[in-house]
Amino acid sequence: MAEASAEKISALHFLLTYQCSRSCPHCFVWGSPGHPATMAREDISRWLDEAAKAGVGRVAFEGGEPFLHFGLLLDSIREAKGKGFSIGLVTNGYWAVSPAGARTYARAVAEAGAVSMMISADDYHGGPVEAGRAETALAAGQEAGLEAYLSRTQLSGVMFRGRAADRLAQAVAASHRAWSEFEKCPYENLRNPGRVHLDAYGFVHACQGLAIGKAGARPLAEILTGYRADDYPLIAALLRGGPAEAVRAFSLEKEIGAGTGKYADACHLCYQARKLLRERGLGHEAESRPDRLDLLGPGEMYGQA
Ligand code: SF4
Repeated sequence: MAEASAEKISALHFLLTYQCSRSCPHCFVWGSPGHPATMAREDISRWLDEAAKAGVGRVAFEGGEPFLHFGLLLDSIREAKGKGFSIGLVTNGYWAVSPAGARTYARAVAEAGAVSMMISADDYHGGPVEAGRAETALAAGQEAGLEAYLSRTQLSGVMFRGRAADRLAQAVAASHRAWSEFEKCPYENLRNPGRVHLDAYGFVHACQGLAIGKAGARPLAEILTGYRADDYPLIAALLRGGPAEAVRAFSLEKEIGAGTGKYADACHLCYQARKLLRERGLGHEAESRPDRLDLLGPGEMYGQA
């Protein structure tokens, strides 16, 4: 019998949109100006209700870049606040073009009910102009009473999934290791995920692009409270022996071992294996499929939208 998750999922991160002001090379979710998928107000409202029913206490609004849809963001924060959630935001601070303008944005999200704001700031997010805006957003956020802080990513801290697998993995080719060495998922607690991500299509992601259900096809509350890791063959393999075990479980050794057969990290191998499963039609996107294999989607998460 499948082992139940011992802890409930207590935090839900809304990927309000896949659209972003930038297309950073290290982005897990392939955020881009050309990826328009954005949540509908009625979906957000319903999903907040279901999250509350499932016992979720904390939500975050991120993307993509959630400030690109500022009216929707403010309404979502207000509604989440009214429903009793603690609320965090993730942004790259592109909107902080001047101190005065930044104060207007920051005050608005704070007054709506946001508590914290993580601002992505590093060379991958552009250059000196973008870095300056992140600093301006930080100052404005702190002045507005938000727990505002910068998150800086360097190459040594990149997890090579999403666009990072495609664009940055070769930059560390000298330190690549044989695929069979990656015997553990180092970053996500797939047995008991305390937080998951929800996107505009309803995908509920245990890791970006590795979904445990699709809200709409099933009630979100049911997906969040009924999660059993062993019901998902790919997740179960990752728990047994990391991405290397997933490669063996799905007989991907030949493709994965082609070329150097070496990868930048566990995520790089995991992501490449998942792409192969999608190509084979195993990593599908339809919750209704009877074989209940893991959902690998949407296309945006694999750079295909
Ligand atoms: S190994 Fe796979 S599931 Fe684990 S964090 Fe990396 S990409 Fe996600």
